[in-house]
This record gives sequence, structure tokens and C-alpha cells, in this order.
Amino acid sequence: MNLCATRCVAEFGNPCQNFCPANVYEMVADGGGKRLQINSSNCVHCKACDIKEPYTDQITWVTPEGGSGPNYQSL
Ligand code: SF4
Repeated sequence: MNLCATRCVAEFGNPCQNFCPANVYEMVADGGGKRLQINSSNCVHCKACDIKEPYTDQITWVTPEGGSGPNYQSL
């Protein structure tokens, strides 16, 4: 998680704040710096974070509640 406030902000500008459609990933002020806050209850299970995060091994998204996840009928 420290990678977000150090290396990722410098190299990529914390893109998780932009590619997540549900604002799950949020960099918030913490003392003199920033820290990652994860608002997991907002997640809409699109899996974009697992695909788009720049370091490829920092986010491993898994389906919630035993693999059920949402049932999108209109997609
Ligand atoms: S799967 Fe990832 S990108 Fe999609 S809404 Fe959930 S946290 Fe955001």
C-alpha cells in the first residue's frame, strides 16, 4: 500500500482513482502526505482494477461471496 503514496503517484499519478468507475480507490490526505483508502462497498465488480493497475501484481480482484457477484441481465 505504501507503493501508492510513493512510486505510483510519481510514475503514473495513481490511475486507480480514474479507471475505477465506482471510486473504490481514493488517495486521501494523511498527515503531511497521502494514503490509499479503499471504499470496497462501492465496487460494481467490473474487474478493471485487476487489468489496468500499472504494476500488474498489486491488485488481485476476486469475486465476492463465494463467486456469486452481480447478475447483469441487460449486458
Ligand atoms: S472491480 Fe475494481 S475497478 Fe471495478 S468497481 Fe470494483 S474496485 Fe473498481
